[in-house]
Amino acid sequence: MKVLITGGAGFIGSHLTDRLIADGHNVFVMDNLVTGNLSNIHQHESNKCFKFIHHNVSNYIEIKDDLDWIIHFASPASPVDYLQLSIETLKVNSLGTHNTLGVARGKSAKYLLASTSEVYGDPTVHPQPETYWGNVNPIGPRGVYDESKRFAEALVMAYHHKHNLDSRIVRIFNCYGPRLRPDDGRVVSNFIKQALAGDPLTIYGDGKQTRSFQYVTDLIDGIVALMNADYHEPINIGNPIEKTVLELAQIIKELTNSKSEIVYKPLPVDDPHRRLPDITRAKEILKWSPKVDLKTGLSNTIAWYQKQKARQTAL
Ligand code: UDP
Repeated sequence: MKVLITGGAGFIGSHLTDRLIADGHNVFVMDNLVTGNLSNIHQHESNKCFKFIHHNVSNYIEIKDDLDWIIHFASPASPVDYLQLSIETLKVNSLGTHNTLGVARGKSAKYLLASTSEVYGDPTVHPQPETYWGNVNPIGPRGVYDESKRFAEALVMAYHHKHNLDSRIVRIFNCYGPRLRPDDGRVVSNFIKQALAGDPLTIYGDGKQTRSFQYVTDLIDGIVALMNADYHEPINIGNPIEKTVLELAQIIKELTNSKSEIVYKPLPVDDPHRRLPDITRAKEILKWSPKVDLKTGLSNTIAWYQKQKARQTAL
């Protein structure tokens, strides 16, 4: 198949690129490299089945080749990134989604949207099933991401109903793994970086807020299963093991043998108090459930951070 992955030079997009190339497909990666990085895809540079297109998908997209799939992953995705790139985030999830949907229609291609657990906002239902409509502050700082992803979902469903677009929507819960940018400000990247440097681990709030962390290869398996399924409603892909942020800090300290202290900083505005996916739908429809436990996934990620650090020191 010929697949266009927008945001394919980013953390998750590049892992999906690896997987689809390994499965024998042709992959076009389109990325403006604002939060993505060419080092994530350099391994494919000389592969004839791979092409990189430097382009911002919020602008009109022109592609001559036929395409079987458009996979729309382009968007800043960490709170620090989307707060800094607020307008760009709103544009890529609205204009960028519209442009990529237009390409899908023009090429009669299938379409997959990367959505997010952030569509549930600060949830009042726990765990979160796909049928929950969410609790989002549209004008708060996170609204630029949450609302634009909600709009993107609405646009995809409208194309599905109006134009019979063969579409999929994956709602991704907190994902970590190699290539998670050390400076993207997320909790896993911050804690690993801080622990390895012997700096204090910064907990925002009291550390009792929860997240459910999934390893990137589990997510990629879920996305591929969704591509192969004939299912058009949103599907949660996440790990149903919930941890407090304090527990995460302690696990990362233990895995890195770090003596770093833990310090407390103010909780960002509208930071969700808890998050846990209900993955019944993914289990039933995709026969998918996550396989990698937190300590194994974090150990792999820590090893990648150590390698990056060693490479940088050697330069
Ligand atoms: N967090 C933290 N310390 C950090 C970075 C984040 O305590 O250095 C908290 C953050 O406030 C949130 C949780 O960790 O409660 C997860 O944050 P992240 O930015 O990774 O993703 P989110 O799930 O909020 O999008």
